[in-house]
Amino acid sequence: MTKTPPETLRPASRLVGAGRREEWTGTPGQPGAVVSPPVWRASTHLYADTAALKEGPRKNEDGRFYYGRRGAPTQWALAEALTALEPGAGPEGGTMLYPSGVAAIAGAVLAAVRPGDVLLMTDNAYEPSRVLARGFLAEWGIETRWFDPLDLDGFAGKLCKRTKAVLLESPGSLTMEVQDVPELARMAHGAGACVILDNTWASPLGLAALSLGVDISVMSLTKHVGGHSDLMMGSATAPREWYQKLRRTAQVMGQVVSPDDAALALRGLRTMGVRLERETQSALAIAHWLEERPEVARVLCPMLPGSPGYDLWRRDFTGGCGLFSLVLRGKDAAARNALIDALSLFGIGYSWGGFESLVTPLDPAGARSASSWPLAGMDEADRFGVRLSIGLEDPADLIADLERGLAAWTASGGGA
Ligand SMILES: *Cc1c(COP(=O)(O)O)cnc(C)c1O
Repeated sequence: MTKTPPETLRPASRLVGAGRREEWTGTPGQPGAVVSPPVWRASTHLYADTAALKEGPRKNEDGRFYYGRRGAPTQWALAEALTALEPGAGPEGGTMLYPSGVAAIAGAVLAAVRPGDVLLMTDNAYEPSRVLARGFLAEWGIETRWFDPLDLDGFAGKLCKRTKAVLLESPGSLTMEVQDVPELARMAHGAGACVILDNTWASPLGLAALSLGVDISVMSLTKHVGGHSDLMMGSATAPREWYQKLRRTAQVMGQVVSPDDAALALRGLRTMGVRLERETQSALAIAHWLEERPEVARVLCPMLPGSPGYDLWRRDFTGGCGLFSLVLRGKDAAARNALIDALSLFGIGYSWGGFESLVTPLDPAGARSASSWPLAGMDEADRFGVRLSIGLEDPADLIADLERGLAAWTASGGGA
C-alpha cells in the first residue's frame, strides 16, 4: 500500500490516518500491522548492553525509547496525530501531552514566562487559567494583566516591554466572545510576546490556530478528543521553536500521560470530526429555537448571527461545536436552578464535548476584571443563565427537554 502524504489530505481523512506508523502498530518480524496502536505499558526500557544504555539518553529524540517518562508508541502516536491535525505546525513542530487541559495551559505559560515578565490574559479565560495567574504565577513574580476580549485598542494599550506571553481563548469560556486572533497575534508579536491560544472549543478542525499566527495551540483533550467523558488529558502543539521550549518545560516538570488514556484519546480522535459536525448542527437548531423564546434574553453562541464576534467566527473558523450559553430574563437565580433541575436529558456536571448533553449554571459576573457582565448591548437586569453542551441525542428530544425546563422556570416565578 502506498501512502498519501498527510499534508495533501483534507481534515476528515487526516483524522483517520494520523499517527498510524507501522513501526508502532506492527509486530517485529511479521508483515502488516494492527489499525490502532496497542497500549504499551512501559516504565523500563531494556537495553542490549551498556553501550546502548549510554546511547539512549544522549540521543533523547522523540519517538525513541529511553525511559517511560518520555512515553511509548501509544503516546507518540497520539502526539503525532494531534500535530498532523494542526496546519502550520511544520515538519519539526510537535505536540506535548499533559495529564489535563489545565496542566497543558500551565505548561505552555511556564514555557514562555520568567520572573519579572507580564502575562496578558483574555478576560473571558477559563476560570482555572485565572486561578493559575492569581494564585501561583504571582508568587513567582509573574504579573498578569487582563484585557477585554473584544477591545483591540485596549489590548494594544496593555502591551509593554515586559509582556512575554498572551493567553487567548476564542470563543471564551462561558460568555463565548470570539476574538480577532490574527490581529491580536500580530500586535503581540510586535511587542515580542508569545501567543498561546486555548483552542479547546474549536479544536484544529474548527480553527487552524497556528496558521493564524498563534505560537502554541492548547487543547483540553478531556473534551472533544476524548469525547466520551472517561479521560482527562491536555495537549500543546507548536512549530519547532516553541515546541522545543514546551518539551523542555514538560520534561523537567515530569509530565507524562498514561498509555491507557492515550489509547482512549486516539480512539476518540478518530470520530471527533463526525461528532463535532453533528453537535454543531444540533446546537444551531437548539440555539435558533431558544432565540425565539420569550424567557430567553440572549443566546451566546458563536455560530449564531448577533453573538459577540460572530463576524470573526465566520471569517476565521471552519467549524463549531455543541457548547454555548443562554441568558435568562431577570435576576432570579432560584428560577434558573429550577430550570436546570427540571431537565432530564442534560446531565448536571462540569466538562463538555462528550456524547451526552450537559448543563451548568452560568453566572460569569465574579470571573471578570477588565470587562463587564452583562456584556455590552445586554440588559443590565439580565444576569443568570445556563451553559449547554449539546451531545449526540436527537435535537428534537433536547428541545422538548428544554421546553420542560423553561416551563419550570416560569412556574418558579422566573418571569415575574
Ligand atoms: C475544561 C477546559 C480546560 C481544562 O481542561 P481539563 O482537562 O479539565 O483540565 C481548559 N480550557 C477550557 C476552555 C476548558 O473548557
